[in-house]
Amino acid sequence: MLRVGAHTSIAGGAYNAVDEQVDYGGNCGQIFSHSPQVWQDPNIEDDEAAKFRDRSAEHDVGPWVIHSSYLVNLCTPKDDLREKSVDSMQKEVDAAAKLDIDYVNVHLGAHTGAGVDGGLDNAASALDELDVPEGVTVLVESDAGSGTKLGGDFEHLATVQERTGLDIEFCLDTAHAFAAGYDLSTPEGVEETFAEFDAVVGLEDLACVHLNDSKHACGTNKDEHAHIGEGEIGKAGMRAFLNHDAVADVPLVLETPTENGKSFDWNIDRVRELRE
Ligand SMILES: [Zn+2]
Repeated sequence: MLRVGAHTSIAGGAYNAVDEQVDYGGNCGQIFSHSPQVWQDPNIEDDEAAKFRDRSAEHDVGPWVIHSSYLVNLCTPKDDLREKSVDSMQKEVDAAAKLDIDYVNVHLGAHTGAGVDGGLDNAASALDELDVPEGVTVLVESDAGSGTKLGGDFEHLATVQERTGLDIEFCLDTAHAFAAGYDLSTPEGVEETFAEFDAVVGLEDLACVHLNDSKHACGTNKDEHAHIGEGEIGKAGMRAFLNHDAVADVPLVLETPTENGKSFDWNIDRVRELRE
């Protein structure tokens, strides 16, 4: 069964994200547990969490993903930032357990001078510090690879997985992978990208896809999302991606923009139309 949904808001109560999802026509989704632009702890009351779980079950919406704060930087060589990042991630995985959410999604972050190898080492050991509750899995997301950010290259994902003792899985963001140089705009490019992901990381550990088109060309390292089929990946690339066996059972979460009169409902319809 196709699982497709959007990143929805918990403003006014976590359960509102479920209602919003249902309004868009989605049946899985992603949330922030708090504002992602600041260091803040998730503050979800027990009854609110219970309502979130009940409504998700009632409407058959899931799996859900918590997207961690944008400030988290697992690769950092700076002790204070590392400590805040680990602390923030610990609170996210605890919030996920409370909400009965399967996944917490995180970017590796930027090595800011530690070098690729040092940065990947830092990320692996930071992940080792987490005490992840049963039923919750940390997903490392592929990155667009700007500046010293790691995770643009599938090798980075595989290296962190090798070096950490934590059982991590992965989220492939189509806009990020495309910006990082994996050409998803043609059926051949899609085939090659999945073959490379499988060879380097392993498709069995692909737990989630952030399905976004890209406003910028392949290999530009620029991360700006576009409506599905309307960006540089385009309709042919998206159709090939959506119908590939590799994602037959992988939940697809949209982080598409709301602009030009199109919102998540339009993009979810577009996905259903392109999936054969
Ligand atoms: Zn993403």
